[in-house]
Amino acid sequence: MSTDNLYGTANLESNAKAMVLLIDDQALVGEVIRRILIAEEGIDFHFCSDAEKAMSMALSIKPTVILQDLVMPGIDGLDLVKTYKTHEELRDLPVIVLSAKDDATVKSQAFEAGANDYLVKLPDAIELIARIRYHSKAYTALKQRDEMFRALRTSQQQLQESNLALEKLMRADGLTGLANRRHFDEYLDIEWKRAAREQYSLSLLMIDVDYFKAFNDSFGHVEGDYTLQKVAQVIKEHCARAGDLGARYGGEEFVAIFPNTDLDGAYKLAEEIRTAVQGLRVSHIKPDEQSVVTVSIGVSSTIPQAHFSPVSLVETADKALYQAKHNGRNRSESTI
Ligand code: GH3
Ligand code: MG
Ligand code: MG
Repeated sequence: MSTDNLYGTANLESNAKAMVLLIDDQALVGEVIRRILIAEEGIDFHFCSDAEKAMSMALSIKPTVILQDLVMPGIDGLDLVKTYKTHEELRDLPVIVLSAKDDATVKSQAFEAGANDYLVKLPDAIELIARIRYHSKAYTALKQRDEMFRALRTSQQQLQESNLALEKLMRADGLTGLANRRHFDEYLDIEWKRAAREQYSLSLLMIDVDYFKAFNDSFGHVEGDYTLQKVAQVIKEHCARAGDLGARYGGEEFVAIFPNTDLDGAYKLAEEIRTAVQGLRVSHIKPDEQSVVTVSIGVSSTIPQAHFSPVSLVETADKALYQAKHNGRNRSESTI
């Protein structure tokens, strides 16, 4: 909710009308109170002479105060008061009991039932109006405060959601949706330390598209971008465990981190990724006319030591990648 709306709601408070609902079986009482209130500015009056319909009327006209008779045919007014007070929508609605008697016991029962005020019939006009205005205003203010809190909670929640979305966006590579380089660096650092603490293997793949310059030159950059997205999707699908992370390292180079995975496991994953990319069957003209797009992958793995830098893991994978390129491309290599 915007600030405008908050102010808008606040303005309403001073202008809000009092909406009175009188529940009384005697038409004469209804008429007298109607006449008292008719000339009053800012007070609307509704009359219900059938106690059976009191609840449904209270729910439909949404009064800001109820005037409640106690003795009605078939229904005890106090039971009605109790019913209002247990109803979700009417719980806070102020109830002024209109009693025929100024009796201490009845009064105390009325307050016990949840009444907010007590007047003896027929009340003096000034007193009735003053009490209606007082209770009505308090109720409206309460409702508006609740509404503002609700709006505030909603906007806080929206803000939190936008912040989360923004954070996610800041960590993502725009083209492929994988993690970007910055997030990869941070993540590798965290996982390196965790693996050093818990002394398990941390593995890394460096994945590079083969002959990609030639691909761009032959098919254009747009087709090139589209191919990078497909390769990224394959990498994402193979980063299946909770701690795995695929990232775009830069250009047509990708990386994948696999915590708690040893060299054999990482090499297997590399081969799965490599064959899956080949399986995409994206036509290429290099190394020969019938080629498809492939990747070369360098694999590295270690049980980290906290006092060493994770950069060594990247460098080792990079060397292995160089080997894979050197040995003919479309292959995975690891250096031990
Ligand atoms: P190699 O098999 O040795 O890896 O050869 P290569 O041509 O893939 O390697 P090289 O490093 O010479 O060229 C990489 C090319 O990747 C250069 C550039 O045209 C392309 N490239 C880098 N980033 C993007 C990108 O975001 N979109 C597109 N379409 N192409 C990119
Ligand atoms: Mg390349
Ligand atoms: Mg490259």
